[in-house]
Amino acid sequence: MDTRFVHAGSDPRKQHGYVNPPVYRASTVLYEDIEAMDASQADPLKREMPVYGRFGTPTGRAFEAALTDLEGGYAAVATCSGLAAITTAILSFVQAGDHILVSDSVYLPTRKFCDSLTGLGVEIEYYDPCVGKDIDNLLRPRTRLVYLESPGSTTFEVQDVPAITGVCRSRGVVTVIDNTWATPAFCRPLGLGADVVVHSATKYLTGHADSILGAIVCTEATFATVRATAIRLGQCASSDDVYLGLRGLRTLGVRLRHHQHQALELARWLEKQDGVVSVLYPALPDDPGHELWHRDFSGAAGLFGLELDPRYRKPAVDAFLGELRLFGLGHSYGGYESLIVPADPVSHRLPGTWSGRGPLVRVHVGLEDLDDLKADLGAGLHALSEQRA
Ligand SMILES: *Cc1c(COP(=O)(O)O)cnc(C)c1O
Repeated sequence: MDTRFVHAGSDPRKQHGYVNPPVYRASTVLYEDIEAMDASQADPLKREMPVYGRFGTPTGRAFEAALTDLEGGYAAVATCSGLAAITTAILSFVQAGDHILVSDSVYLPTRKFCDSLTGLGVEIEYYDPCVGKDIDNLLRPRTRLVYLESPGSTTFEVQDVPAITGVCRSRGVVTVIDNTWATPAFCRPLGLGADVVVHSATKYLTGHADSILGAIVCTEATFATVRATAIRLGQCASSDDVYLGLRGLRTLGVRLRHHQHQALELARWLEKQDGVVSVLYPALPDDPGHELWHRDFSGAAGLFGLELDPRYRKPAVDAFLGELRLFGLGHSYGGYESLIVPADPVSHRLPGTWSGRGPLVRVHVGLEDLDDLKADLGAGLHALSEQRA
């Protein structure tokens, strides 16, 4: 994979030998003559010949080719954000009257989008992320799509992806999975039977907190539908952002291994600290998702959940967060810098699928020195413990 991160989607011979592709900033494409213009109409998916900037540029094609290669797909579509990749992928397959099953642990904006589909006549049902092969019992004649995200946002349940995709394949139901956490460095869901993989490339793929970008990677059977939907929706990504995504990919392997190393060390250390109930991180041997993670993933990203003692309430958690200097208080993750954000899954989850005990925060372990990061969290936990009364 490391060799592929460095070379995927790259063809310096097509760009005068320069290693990196140019950033095409483009709307209009000029044709030689009317014959060339007419000929360009022949490609309904608007990929073979340059037509208009909205259909993508050679910079975007390089990014799509790279992700296709890394995920082992047939083709990919770059989108303006991760959420746009998710909404486009779902809209590609559902119509009024359909029923879709969505994991209860999905990224909250994904859930909000799915809820909005109710107004378009689509029935949404959330399922326990740990359902496994019992997804079979939830499929109905009108079920068109099953949506997965593994591990789940903020609560980190690992799904039995092959069990779910196996059942869905045999019943003709499309599966879409969010692979933002693992990236193709650590998991390749098409190989586990998924039909479509979506990414927030904003996170690890770009890796430097400097762009918003998404991608949909498809199998041969799903690509034409997804691409046609993306065209209909006016979905596109700017060449500047795809350039940053492509540049991030080149160092993905080495960055993720270091994020993993740091996160695992910090998670093990945190587990032993006063005030911590548990660390939700599938790479830890006692994590409920560890076995599935070990089977289906080749590594763990630098993002985990930290569950604090239930005796602490919001003022104590605020004191903990307020003490931190290196862990920035901010959304997103996957950049070089450490981040932390309070997470409250209880407000929107199904009853029973999340049995958290204490307040939860989500930690992204960046590339700073590990001892500095420990000292920072240590100071935060000290401030937490002072709030005991
Ligand atoms: C951030 C995130 C998204 C949305 O990505 P944007 O690029 O911010 O639109 C989707 N899924 C997961 C799991 C994410 O963490």
